[in-house]
Amino acid sequence: MGDKSGAKRDFAGNKSFLPSKPCVACGRPMTWRKKWEKNWEQVKYCSDACRKKGDAR
Ligand SMILES: [Zn+2]
Repeated sequence: MGDKSGAKRDFAGNKSFLPSKPCVACGRPMTWRKKWEKNWEQVKYCSDACRKKGDAR
């Protein structure tokens, strides 16, 4: 008995649940950030440098 004592701690530190997707410019995986909370679906580039690269064509 008492074998579930660690369950709550696991839930609190469950950062691996955050979504991620590859940057369209460099292909590196981007992990979800708080600042992308409202436009995550529109985020395509991991950084300003990649966005310039992508926009320049
Ligand atoms: Zn990138």
